[in-house]
Amino acid sequence: MNYEYVCPYCRGNLKIDNDIVFAVRTQNQQRGLLMVNSALGDYRYRKHPDLDLSEGDRLETFCPMCHSNLKAINVNTNLAEIIMLDEDGKEYQIYFSEIVGEHVTFKIKDADMESFGEDSEGYVNFFGV
Ligand SMILES: [Zn+2]
Repeated sequence: MNYEYVCPYCRGNLKIDNDIVFAVRTQNQQRGLLMVNSALGDYRYRKHPDLDLSEGDRLETFCPMCHSNLKAINVNTNLAEIIMLDEDGKEYQIYFSEIVGEHVTFKIKDADMESFGEDSEGYVNFFGV
């Protein structure tokens, strides 16, 4: 199944080839682009070498098109939120950690929740599903 990922605010396509493209800002106010593997639970990413990221850094994640902050403010301030669309046009809420090196991803559709990443367990209680 081929999935697309879109911004929850402008509905622009975030996926190019196999990567999801985000604009990020570090705690040191450095800005850059991240290309994150679009397979849920795969945390590999690419970036420009000048963008310094270290384990534990808290990023802010923005849509590269409309610049909306993707923080999942209604769920947990460590998480960001985007929308996944399957080939039938079904929508899923995708939540992932904005902390570098923290492996947390949730895929949610109504009352169904799937989690990915070894750090997800600590976040399960934030979802009312
Ligand atoms: Zn957007």
